[in-house]
Amino acid sequence: TARRAAALGTTVFTELTELAQRTGAINLGQGFPDTDGPRAVIDRAREALVTGANQYPPLAGTPALRSAVARQRLRRYGLSYDPADEVVVTTGATEAVTAAVLALCDPGDEIIVFDPCYDAYQASADLAGAVCRRVPLRRGVDRFGLDPADLERAVSPRTRLVLLNTPHNPTGKVFTRDELEAVAGLCRRHDLVAVTDEVYEYLTYDGTRHLSLASLPGMRERTLSVSSAGKTFSLTGWKVGWACGPAALVAAVRSVKQYLTFAGGAPLQDAVAHALDREEAWVERLCGQLQDKRDLLTTGLRRAGIEVIRAEGGYFLQADVSGTGAADAADFCRTLPLRRNVVAIPTSAFSTAGESCRHLVRFAFCKERGLLEKAAQSIAAPP
Ligand code: PMP
Ligand code: GLN
Repeated sequence: TARRAAALGTTVFTELTELAQRTGAINLGQGFPDTDGPRAVIDRAREALVTGANQYPPLAGTPALRSAVARQRLRRYGLSYDPADEVVVTTGATEAVTAAVLALCDPGDEIIVFDPCYDAYQASADLAGAVCRRVPLRRGVDRFGLDPADLERAVSPRTRLVLLNTPHNPTGKVFTRDELEAVAGLCRRHDLVAVTDEVYEYLTYDGTRHLSLASLPGMRERTLSVSSAGKTFSLTGWKVGWACGPAALVAAVRSVKQYLTFAGGAPLQDAVAHALDREEAWVERLCGQLQDKRDLLTTGLRRAGIEVIRAEGGYFLQADVSGTGAADAADFCRTLPLRRNVVAIPTSAFSTAGESCRHLVRFAFCKERGLLEKAAQSIAAPP
C-alpha cells in the first residue's frame, strides 16, 4: 500500500455503520434517511433506464441537468450561470470538492477549513498534498459561532482556498449573513477562492435561511458553489452532485474530473433535473418533518440529562455528554451500542481541536420518528 492510501485509513462512517449492522443498534451515526425521495423522481430514473439513457453522458453532465442547476441557482439565489461552461455535474458533492481541491491547490498550498468539519475535506487536502488550516467554530450559549479574528489569523501567503460548509456538518450551524460577510471580506482582501459545500442548502429550521456565499458582493467571480441531490431529495445513494462558478474554476474542476470518473450515471441525471424543477414543495415538507425530528430527539436527549445545542440546519445535532459519567464522547460512543442499542459519532472524529470537542457527540436525526423515539427512550432509561 502506498503511504497516501495507508494514511487515509477507514472512515468513521464505514466503521460505525458496520457496528450498527453487527449489533442491530439504531444507526444515528451515518447521515442518511431511511425513507426514499419523491416517487415521481424515482419513476423518471426508471423510465430513463428502460428508454435507453444508458451510455456515457457528456463529461460535464447532461444538458438537462446543467440547465436545471442553473435555473435553481437563479431562482433561489439570484445568481446566473451559463450551463455551457459554468456548471459541472459530479459524482456527488464529494467528487466536486475533491476535484476542486486537486484542481486548485499545489502541494504545500493551504486551505482554510472550519473545525470541526466533514472528514472528506482533510482527505482531499491530503491527496493534493495541501495543508488544512483549521478555524475553530466556537461553542457559544446556544450555537456555534465564528470569530473573524480567528479567520484572519489562519491566512498565510500560501493560502489558496477557503472551504466552507453551510448548513454545517457536524455542528448543525447555519452561517449567518455577518459570518459570511467576514468570510467574503477575507477572500476579497487576500484574493482567495471559496469552495462552498451547500449539500444541506434546503434543510434549515425555525425560519433560518441558507445564504449562498457566492451571492455576496464580489464573491460570484471567486466562488465555486457545490451541492448535490442526496440530502435535498433523500436520494443519498444516487450520488449526483454539481459545482457552479466562473468558467475558469469550472474548467479546472472539469479537467481533473476527466480522469477521476469522466462522467456520472446517465439515467439519474435527468431524473435529478426533474426533481430540481418540480419538487420544491416536496422538499419543503421534508424540511418540516426534519425539524420535528430534530425536536423529538432534542427533547428525548434533554430528558436523559444530556445538553443539546440546537441544530439550525442539516441532518445532525450536537449533544454534550459531560454530565453522563462517561470519560469523554469517544468513551460514551464506544459503549452506546451495547448499553443503549444506539450508534452515534464522537465529534472529535471531525476535529483536531482536542478539548473543545471532547464531550460532544453528533447524533443524526434524519431517521424515522419511531426509531428516534426508541433511541431517546433507551438513552433516557435508568442504567
Ligand atoms: N458534504 C457534506 C457536508 C456532507 O455531509 C456530505 C455527506 N452526505 C457530503 C458532502 C457528501 O455528499 P454526496 O453524497 O453528494 O457526495
Ligand atoms: N454525510 C453523511 C454523514 O456525515 C454520510 C457520509 C458518508 O457516508 N461518507 O454522516
